Amino acid sequence: MEPKDTTVNEAYKGFTNTACPFYPCHKGVKREFNCLFCYCPLIAYACPGPYKLYTDRNGLVRKDCSGCTLPHDGYHASWNFIQKWLKRPVPWDGQPQTRRGRDT
Ligand code: SF4
Repeated sequence: MEPKDTTVNEAYKGFTNTACPFYPCHKGVKREFNCLFCYCPLIAYACPGPYKLYTDRNGLVRKDCSGCTLPHDGYHASWNFIQKWLKRPVPWDGQPQTRRGRDT
């Protein structure tokens, strides 16, 4: 197996599971639907996504990411987006989204 930095095969950047009963789980995806980040790696970190807040049954405030397509819109684009934001992860402070526009 080649290290990902030297291989020209970029298949690891995404896939679409059209057999999933929830597919397509987010509306507004224009490119290939990437299922690789179904559980977004940024859920516990600051991110530019348009999340809302909700309080779970244990009283914890969590992100509601229903309206976010960033981890799903295009194999290459979503891969690059996640890698960029994981380079210097900042723990999410539990506050509402305040970013205006997308800084992806
Ligand atoms: S808002 Fe989008 S980028 Fe942020 S954690 Fe949720 S799914 Fe990930």
